[in-house]
Amino acid sequence: MSMSDCIFCKILDGELPSAKVYEDEDVYAFLDISQVSKGHTLVIPKNHTENIYETDEETAQKVFARIPKIANALQKTYEPKGMNILQNNGEFAGQTVFHLHIHLIPRYDNNEDGF
Ligand code: 5GP
Ligand code: ZN
Repeated sequence: MSMSDCIFCKILDGELPSAKVYEDEDVYAFLDISQVSKGHTLVIPKNHTENIYETDEETAQKVFARIPKIANALQKTYEPKGMNILQNNGEFAGQTVFHLHIHLIPRYDNNEDGF
């Protein structure tokens, strides 16, 4: 898939709408369109990279370094009881969008989430 076909690049370009959670010069975070649980967020680098295999160290450093800050922001907003952080690489691992992304999935009690 080329960058021009990438839906997350389109979100970054503002061609597609998204609900912003966090942004800086290198990283963008937005609510997943299909909320596994309240506050389910995706964190992506602004430069297109398909998945972890083709991600250079500098990009990885930037995107992964922001996770604690974004997790804390979600924690403050949604007050979940826990949070899963996961990242899929390749079709067989469940990757459906081929622009590196990290899922932040807040977890609640009382079966408030979909798990
Ligand atoms: P993957 O399965 O590749 O790890 O996760 C891709 C995620 O992107 C899915 O959870 C899916 O709901 C989300 N997604 C797909 N298209 C869009 C979109 O246009 N906007 C937003 N906000 N999320 C999307
Ligand atoms: Zn992209």
